Amino acid sequence: MNDNNEALLNPEHRRHQAFVQIQNTCPLCNSQLTIRVETYLENYTLREEASCSTCRLVARVKDHKMH
Ligand SMILES: [Zn+2]
Repeated sequence: MNDNNEALLNPEHRRHQAFVQIQNTCPLCNSQLTIRVETYLENYTLREEASCSTCRLVARVKDHKMH
């Protein structure tokens, strides 16, 4: 399986990838953020935590309800 091939064949997927890349840049130092995703199956919540390894900043924490 090749991720690049999948992106070329699926425009929806590629658009999503571009969106994620914009969102994942540190507002302070412009370096790539580290994204950690946790799921809480017991209450259908997905927690997304973006942090910068350079300035040790937690850029955002987002909770998504999965239904
Ligand atoms: Zn940073």
